[in-house]
Amino acid sequence: MQIPFVDLKKQYHSIKSDIDTAIQRVIEETAFIGGTHVKQFEKAFAELYGVKYCVGCANGTDAIYIILKMLGIGQGDEVITTASSWISTSETIGQTGAKPVFVDIEPDFYTIDANKIEEKITSRTKAIIPVHLYGQVADLEALAKICEKHNLYLIEDCAQSHFSQLSGRNAGTWGIAGTLSFYPGKNLGAYGDAGAIITNDEKFAEKCRMYANHGALIKHQHYIEGINSRLDGLQAAILNAKLPHVLQWTDQRIANAAIYTELLKGIPNISLPAQRQGSRHTWHLYVIRAEKRNELATWLKERGIETAVHYPTPLPFMAPYEYQRAAREDFPIAAAYQQEILSLPMYPELSKDQMQYVADAIAAFYRQ
Ligand SMILES: *Cc1c(COP(=O)(O)O)cnc(C)c1O
Repeated sequence: MQIPFVDLKKQYHSIKSDIDTAIQRVIEETAFIGGTHVKQFEKAFAELYGVKYCVGCANGTDAIYIILKMLGIGQGDEVITTASSWISTSETIGQTGAKPVFVDIEPDFYTIDANKIEEKITSRTKAIIPVHLYGQVADLEALAKICEKHNLYLIEDCAQSHFSQLSGRNAGTWGIAGTLSFYPGKNLGAYGDAGAIITNDEKFAEKCRMYANHGALIKHQHYIEGINSRLDGLQAAILNAKLPHVLQWTDQRIANAAIYTELLKGIPNISLPAQRQGSRHTWHLYVIRAEKRNELATWLKERGIETAVHYPTPLPFMAPYEYQRAAREDFPIAAAYQQEILSLPMYPELSKDQMQYVADAIAAFYRQ
């Protein structure tokens, strides 16, 4: 059996005619930049997500950058974020001129440890960016309290957590704004780069929209210097075709995670992912911790099973942050997990037989 890490082809074939028609229409209408498909997606996504405004942009990285810039964050400021994420979360802070200040992760949930935030807050701190890593929401209730107490902006990186919830409230709606990535492999994926900002603040949405479009809301009326970060018409049309399926795909991920957990729970050499109380985890990734992780990954590969590591190096230990001189003792959990985490194949179309095959191969590895 061959089990790829993600299988975007299977999903395409399940809705092929809708996708093909959508692409054809954009070309026929030459609605490449802006236009009806982008507007339609922004409206439909905001409605489905339960948020007032959705501003499309070029990718999930720009979404974070645009928010930081429009909050006036820059040189001399500090922004607190997690030690464990994709580099977009911290590089955008650096790009504004501000300094990313890292906080270790919680041992059970892999998200920023709210108990270790306050010791890092200074007079320069302006915002906190939690990442709902793997689809698991960060401790939003604690984070919202800290932000309120210290007068900080809460910006949620929801690139991996479309429709994740805590206490029935969607991720991305707890602070000033949230960011989404529609990178092809994300829970809602385009066929290229795409992203969005979500917010309930009308003025802020307008500011972000303006900045992402060269500082203009109307052609040739530039109020500020902006950037070119627009949601592409083709990508918007593809996202429109996929949107009616996303909740069902999310349910399928949740069901698959439960099946994995059932199949894997008897294996003593691995730790299975936990889920925060009162949350809805949307399982962008199913990440286990495994003894002899690298050997296990090789064993699985030899049996046709693709795995990945998210992420091999915690952010504070990466080259761009060498100047911060982080020690492993400063981020003990992220540092320890670096050698143990392993992401198993996870997507809505994954079958029970495939998961059984993965579980059997993992069990066989530890029986040798
Ligand atoms: C994918 C991702 C991003 C960036 O999204 P792009 O659309 O690829 O720019 C940001 N943060 C996290 C946590 C991500 O996983």
